[in-house]
Amino acid sequence: MARLAQTAGLTDVQQEILATVRDFVDKEILPVATELEHRDEYPQAIVDGLTELGLFGLMIPEEYGGLGESLLTYALCVEEIARGWMSVSGIINTHFIVAYLLKQHGTAEQKEYFLPRMAAGEVRGAFSMSEPALGSDVSAITSKAVRDGDEYVLTGQKMWLTNGGTSSLVAVLVRSDEGHPEGTAPHRSMTTFLVEKEPGFGEVRPGLTIPGKIDKMGYKGVDTTELIMDGLRIPADRVLGGTTGRGFYQMMDGVEVGRVNVAARGCGVAQRAFELGVRYAQQRHTFGRPIAQHQAVQFKLAEMATKVEAAHAMMVNAARKKDSGERNDLEAGMAKYLASEYCKEVVEDAFRIHGGYGYSKEYEIERLYREAPMLLIGEGTAEIQKMIIGRRLLEEYRFQG
Ligand SMILES: Cc1cc2nc3c(=O)[nH]c(=O)nc-3n(C[C@H](O)[C@H](O)[C@H](O)COP(=O)(O)OP(=O)(O)OC[C@H]3O[C@@H](n4cnc5c(N)ncnc54)[C@H](O)[C@@H]3O)c2cc1C
Repeated sequence: MARLAQTAGLTDVQQEILATVRDFVDKEILPVATELEHRDEYPQAIVDGLTELGLFGLMIPEEYGGLGESLLTYALCVEEIARGWMSVSGIINTHFIVAYLLKQHGTAEQKEYFLPRMAAGEVRGAFSMSEPALGSDVSAITSKAVRDGDEYVLTGQKMWLTNGGTSSLVAVLVRSDEGHPEGTAPHRSMTTFLVEKEPGFGEVRPGLTIPGKIDKMGYKGVDTTELIMDGLRIPADRVLGGTTGRGFYQMMDGVEVGRVNVAARGCGVAQRAFELGVRYAQQRHTFGRPIAQHQAVQFKLAEMATKVEAAHAMMVNAARKKDSGERNDLEAGMAKYLASEYCKEVVEDAFRIHGGYGYSKEYEIERLYREAPMLLIGEGTAEIQKMIIGRRLLEEYRFQG
């Protein structure tokens, strides 16, 4: 199965990490994923195994106890994990974004306090921008922070927190008008707060409630929740980076690396769908031969494999661009857009190849069919990616007439 989605130019260390993760996926994730997903059960044993492998600290610098690896290594690991079960990559993803936000924007004290425990997987991160009335339009956030002495008092309702229940640290984006006169652009009056809490549901800290899990069509096992702040008091030294008004830019930076990660998930799910499709096509016989010998089915397989290759190449390109220190919003937007659309198409083709059995819960493709649509929405919908891509293209190709 290793012919597709190869990555040239990896170091020995990267190859070793990927081989270890792939082995873990084959032995510990794939055999149990569908059963756990059907039960909507949190994969604690898998998470413990990934913690032991150091996956929660993969990109955290070595000085804070992490492995100090690149975005490319991280994305390739995510691709492998999503090939096993997309929900597991979701458990790591929000943690990774919060660790990235701290690494890039945190004060020295915040890094020192959080990153070593995040690298060890003891503190687990979630991030929260969306609200019931907004997702794409982040600048419309209404949750508020008001200064009161050495603290801020936070009020408002948040929506769609991946790992909202299981996390112990949430990066929450709210409006904080303090220091920003009336008429300040919305994105200049937002602040990210580092909110510590107990894992679990109900009132997890005075003024902070996590009501319960949202019941989803797929992407099960990982908890997705609301978050309600009602007079939640947060010390001023838990403003990410120590200065208010920078939250919008910090979060957009985090989401940009998150997009490479979602692209990687799309690649992993598409690869698995191809594996299932190509196997089934050689087992199932109609009209006296394996269906893989019918040209229409072979053409499907050809299209699926081409999409797997193309998505992987774009995802790797976007990760490498970021690792080289260059701006990668164009490449990340393109990779996320293409990988999620292709993932949906490859999954659908694998589903069709399975005929009626694809509709049965006994077959893994049924799970993938419910998982793929999430990638069209998370970290910015297809329309939002196209807006980002279009704007950047017009900057790059400005007409000088
Ligand atoms: C399972 C799951 C997990 C999630 N996890 C998190 C999380 O951990 N943290 C978090 O903060 N959020 C999370 N989200 C929220 C997610 O980021 C939003 O759902 C997403 O950004 C879309 O926002 P929305 O749902 O409000 O849709 P809307 O913004 O209301 O969009 C609705 C439709 O209108 C289109 N649209 C909107 N604006 C435009 C425009 N200007 N031009 C053209 N079309 C437009 C959109 O593309 C979409 O098709 C999660 C969502 C899901 C489903």
